[in-house]
Amino acid sequence: MTPAAEPATGVASSLDLSEELVLLQRTIRQFVEERLRPHEMEIEEREDIPRSLIDEMAQVGLFGIGFPEEVGGQGFGKLGYLVAVEQVARANAAIWNVVGGSVGLCATAISIGGDDAQKRRFLPDLLSARKIGAYALSEPGAGSDAGSLRTRARRDGDGYVIDGAKTFITNAPIADVFVVFANLDPATGPKGITAFVVDRGTPGLEIGPNDPKMGLHGSTVAQLHFGEMRVPADRRLGAEGRGFPIALATLDHGRMGLAASSVGAAQRLLEASVAQAKARVQFGRPIATNEAIQWMLADAATEIHAARLMVYDAAIRIDRGERVTRQAAMAKLFATETLGRVADAALQIHGGMGYMKELWIERAYRDARIARIYEGTSEIQRLVIAQGLLEEG
Ligand SMILES: Cc1cc2nc3c(=O)[nH]c(=O)nc-3n(C[C@H](O)[C@H](O)[C@H](O)COP(=O)(O)OP(=O)(O)OC[C@H]3O[C@@H](n4cnc5c(N)ncnc54)[C@H](O)[C@@H]3O)c2cc1C
Repeated sequence: MTPAAEPATGVASSLDLSEELVLLQRTIRQFVEERLRPHEMEIEEREDIPRSLIDEMAQVGLFGIGFPEEVGGQGFGKLGYLVAVEQVARANAAIWNVVGGSVGLCATAISIGGDDAQKRRFLPDLLSARKIGAYALSEPGAGSDAGSLRTRARRDGDGYVIDGAKTFITNAPIADVFVVFANLDPATGPKGITAFVVDRGTPGLEIGPNDPKMGLHGSTVAQLHFGEMRVPADRRLGAEGRGFPIALATLDHGRMGLAASSVGAAQRLLEASVAQAKARVQFGRPIATNEAIQWMLADAATEIHAARLMVYDAAIRIDRGERVTRQAAMAKLFATETLGRVADAALQIHGGMGYMKELWIERAYRDARIARIYEGTSEIQRLVIAQGLLEEG
């Protein structure tokens, strides 16, 4: 008999996980509770994730779960990865963000765009966290409209020279490897964009300091500057001019990670809200006896359940080899907006204590806000979904 998956607020999913994935889910959940949760306040206060914790995460396979064994992964597929992400997101969101930037984006781009030699060369180090990766697409002048990026590449001898700048690059201050998108032929627009793998320490690569932000403390972001940065030809991912399709296909996968992490973060907030609603007594009875509170809990549970099903559905499709651009955009849109609503309701249910730094709720509320912005804002997800509909129709 298949063991039961972790209860999703008492609502069983008809999409039963295999015995193998249920065991994976339990193992990661136990690891998160025993090894990650005890550090979450310290990470927030020190704005730093100890390297030893990243090593521990690597030891339980968190960086390689979704990748095939032949490139150094654990071979659990996209569904396995997302089941694990959901659990990791039950700790400090910054911890998941390091994994998301390194493997959800950087290693995924290499796995999508790289040839066999490049996969063998770069993936084992990233999937074991011996090296940390970053994905450098956004620029000061090109965020939602990433296809208009202005970082320039030009051919030079047997390689390329890159000039330009990137902004908001997750993991940049700690990354060893960067996937960088630059345009070889700006006259052709996004058709000139080409992807490169660049090592930290490459002459001409300047990495800015960790930029302060509202939440995700412990996860780092920085600007990159490229001044006459030489990159050998064997560091080009895919053909010249194929960088933008690689960037977009990578984002389909990355958005699934964000959707799954939003489900996990929302689930934890809901569980805390249920406990608080039962424990907190006002007017002589638990606040949970008020319908106003019950409706907040009911809406949260319903939306989380729907978001989880969307994540699992898209993951199963990816594992079948389907392209899931629209499903990933829908899952990212719905799950991240759900997290925003659930975080707001959780803070409301916790009252004044929800606003205080003594509890983790205010941190989760701040951490939740970015999910509707990065890897494509909610408005951009709606554009992607509508474009798919209109092209079909
Ligand atoms: C903490 C953090 C980490 C990040 N990590 C990375 C990373 O690792 N790698 C990377 O490459 N990037 C990263 N980013 C960048 C992120 O993906 C962008 O911030 C995001 O895509 C939005 O771009 P923008 O900030 O330039 O906003 P803008 O594009 O300027 O958008 C501003 C507003 O206008 C809206 N808007 C824009 N165009 C339209 C339109 N056509 N229709 C309707 N509304 C529109 C947007 O939805 C948004 O509300 C990160 C950002 C942050 C803050």
